[in-house]
Amino acid sequence: MQFDTMPNLLKKRVFLTPDRTAIYFNEETITFKELYEKSLQTAGKLQGLGVKKDQFVGVLLKNHLDTVVILFALQLLGVKAVILNNRLTTKELIWQVNDARAASLILDNDFEQIKKEVTIPAVTKDQLFAATSVTPEIQEEINLNDVCTVMYTSGTTGNPKGVLHTYGNHWWSAVGSALNLGYTDSDRWLCSVPLFHISGYSILMKSVIYGMPVILHENFDAKRAINDIKNKHVTIMSVVGTMLYRLVEALELEGCQLPKHFRCALLGGGPAPLPLLEACKAKEVPVFQSYGMTETASQIVTLAPEYSIIKLGSAGKPLFPSQLEIILEDGRMASPREAGEIVVKGPNVTSGYLYRPDATQVNFNDGWFHTGDIGYLDGEGFLYVLDRRSDLIISGGENIYPAEIESVLLAHPDVADAGVTGFDDETWGQVPAAFIVRKKNAHITEVELKQFCLENLAKYKVPKSFYFTDKLPRNASKKLLRRKLSELVQEGRIHK
Ligand code: ATP
Ligand code: MG
Repeated sequence: MQFDTMPNLLKKRVFLTPDRTAIYFNEETITFKELYEKSLQTAGKLQGLGVKKDQFVGVLLKNHLDTVVILFALQLLGVKAVILNNRLTTKELIWQVNDARAASLILDNDFEQIKKEVTIPAVTKDQLFAATSVTPEIQEEINLNDVCTVMYTSGTTGNPKGVLHTYGNHWWSAVGSALNLGYTDSDRWLCSVPLFHISGYSILMKSVIYGMPVILHENFDAKRAINDIKNKHVTIMSVVGTMLYRLVEALELEGCQLPKHFRCALLGGGPAPLPLLEACKAKEVPVFQSYGMTETASQIVTLAPEYSIIKLGSAGKPLFPSQLEIILEDGRMASPREAGEIVVKGPNVTSGYLYRPDATQVNFNDGWFHTGDIGYLDGEGFLYVLDRRSDLIISGGENIYPAEIESVLLAHPDVADAGVTGFDDETWGQVPAAFIVRKKNAHITEVELKQFCLENLAKYKVPKSFYFTDKLPRNASKKLLRRKLSELVQEGRIHK
């Protein structure tokens, strides 16, 4: 007999600890019992509007208590929530709604334009809450293999792909994280990352699975985050690099430090530049570097606290339930310190992409997921992520990772943002080119930046050309679109 069923997660949590606080949102607090009751009522309204078990339903909502209620209502009904990024353009959103073949769409009141343009039934949050409720058919049990959510990848390397997350993926992600970070009854997690990303949604799942209060913010504001860390006793917070920069800046401005109860800034989403990690070390911000992607239902590799200093720059080791290997181009396993593709396996890893058997087949091999990222393991099995395979620059037979050069450039006090990509070159095959956004009132020149790079990088890695611009092309997740950098030059939109 296979044990692939579990009780409905929210219902079980309510049974265990009904009166614990589930969410703090602005001035409101809500216990697990209240969250369940509201979600149950909303499930009744959704069912009344024709939403049914197993349908894919689009969700386009901001970080809000109501969003949490709606997301759990969908889980209660056994609906597969296609959680959409509200920073996308209308065109991109319509593409995803169509790609997912969503049966209907639930959206925030001020996304009127999209409501007009989609061809499927769309209800605003207000319309939903005003609808009449029927007695909902609740999924008393969940099957760990059933799809709970669909989230699209950020589309950094091409078109976004719909990633299927089962209940099992979410469950094991939460368990793997707790086995690494630990969990105590005094933990409270600050969620100022978007709920539409796996980084945010996974915090909600942890809340229910651990019985842990979440402090939910509409968006990230460094001052507010510091305030709530102090006053609402936040112990853990999920961050991406830019948030952490702003947090450290704000601490410096206020001349203060985070309280001792704050034990973890879980950093993910992209490379962690060394200067940032060093600034955090100086300010005693406890950073846990991590590596993960939509496909791994949040982090799959995290640096355990006792290694955060001695292994600075490493993303850590795979979480307890997961495995990781580095595979060379010829299919062999890499030796320590040898760079190759990062492949991962584990119960938190997606089983594939929605309606994309082609991409699923290309990326999966015997249960191992090929991430498309390059990295290496040191002699003790700590992972160092170098870059995306598609962004690798091969110059005169040497591999150059744009992220390493960007990290050096970002360490220059006059540089606000930096992007590096490869340009074709007759002699070397490819050479690195840098795109720089200067800090306000800074006048740094190409010659000075080249000199700075020469002091910090091997000569072949020093960019051969520098372009200065006001803004780098980033996607809705603020990730650098390196493939668009060379397009800017080709299209004549940027000059040296
Ligand atoms: P797409 O798959 O559509 O191109 P994406 O890969 O940017 O988009 P996400 O799932 O949001 O979509 O991002 C995961 C990626 O972010 C990883 O595959 C990796 O390239 C990068 N990343 C995550 N953590 C780290 C890290 N610690 N260091 C370097 N890169 C990281
Ligand atoms: Mg990806």
